Amino acid sequence: MADIVCPLCGTTYKGLNLDETNGWFICTKYNIDLCLPGYGKKVKIPLVNFSKNKEANQSQR
Ligand SMILES: [Zn+2]
Repeated sequence: MADIVCPLCGTTYKGLNLDETNGWFICTKYNIDLCLPGYGKKVKIPLVNFSKNKEANQSQR
């Protein structure tokens, strides 16, 4: 759980579970989804993309 301040409107959102949402929260003022930097490190998207590119290179040969 964490208290964060929305970078867009400055509203303080208390008790958000950003670990579960990988840093995503909903700004209720603008009604849009936002992702805070510094969260979501558990999701290693670059490594996944790298392995997919490696498989693609192998299939081309
Ligand atoms: Zn906001």
